[in-house]
Amino acid sequence: MWDRTRDRLSPLLDRVGPEGLPGLRFSGDDPAPSQSSLLDALRNLTGWDVETLRRDAARFAEIYTPVGILPPDQYMAQVVQLTHGCSFNTCTFCTFYRDIPFRVKSPSELRQHLVEVDRFLGRGTSLRHSLFLGDANALAVPMDMLEPLFEIVSDHYRDRLWGTDGADTHLNGMHAFLDGFSGTRKSAEDFNRLRRLGLKRVTVGLESGHDPLLEWLRKPGTSYDVMGCVEAMKGAGLQVCLVVLVGAGGEAFNRGHILDTRRFLADMPLDSGDIIYFSEYVQEPGAPYGVIMEEDGILPLDGEGVGRQCDEISSALRPSTEGGPRTAVYDIREFTY
Ligand code: SF4
Repeated sequence: MWDRTRDRLSPLLDRVGPEGLPGLRFSGDDPAPSQSSLLDALRNLTGWDVETLRRDAARFAEIYTPVGILPPDQYMAQVVQLTHGCSFNTCTFCTFYRDIPFRVKSPSELRQHLVEVDRFLGRGTSLRHSLFLGDANALAVPMDMLEPLFEIVSDHYRDRLWGTDGADTHLNGMHAFLDGFSGTRKSAEDFNRLRRLGLKRVTVGLESGHDPLLEWLRKPGTSYDVMGCVEAMKGAGLQVCLVVLVGAGGEAFNRGHILDTRRFLADMPLDSGDIIYFSEYVQEPGAPYGVIMEEDGILPLDGEGVGRQCDEISSALRPSTEGGPRTAVYDIREFTY
């Protein structure tokens, strides 16, 4: 596949002239690339073959454990793994970190990781506009361990985070996942300290405002935990993304999921800097969710039911045009890193 793509790109090298490539048009306000930068890009692309791609993948696997998922606004982030895996791994619908034991990097490991990430990405860092601190719940780490790790990252990317670097490699803050249960162990002052070190936005898997559904999903904590955690983060000036798991619990939990999640979202101090993601449940191979549905005799919602659930929940939100949070679809099948 790649060999075919390269064979089609190679002839273009002879066709690049002072006016660029015949037939290639650029939209928007960006200036068209110069002849030399087009040639550079094509030489770079055609220089790869299957063997170099394999070596690249092997090098990636030496630096990172699998990057299971990111929030959609962070698909183009530069991932830095402060931790590996998930500290819970109990949720029946989630298989992202099943085979990865939870572990926190030591300060020296983290320093080494940052050097290796930079070396691996090379000029590709200019495509990455934020830092994502992996993995599933890096912010769950207690403050006495977490703050020194944040200081290392903040210091390492000082120029790119705080604006003294060139505009095209500027990083728009640090981002991370957090679960509500672990979030309750941090105060607004803790989050404030992390914000001062560069944290900008945190994505929390709410899944539902309906606690019986959370319990059935074996999600740690309650919606009340998420509420406390979001209030602390907003009080510290952070932006928040909340993920609602649409269709979860099928017909049995449909009404409870709608009513309690609506109530929950309406009560949250969210604004236009925040995002609500609607993520439809997707059956992943190996996830216990499907088996439990069958055992409990629960019917899944059909496409129309899922759509109605999503509409009913989102209608509780203040529109973003009036200062409410933005909403977006989160389709985990689209994710690659
Ligand atoms: S949903 Fe989040 S807390 Fe639950 S197992 Fe997956 S990563 Fe861990």
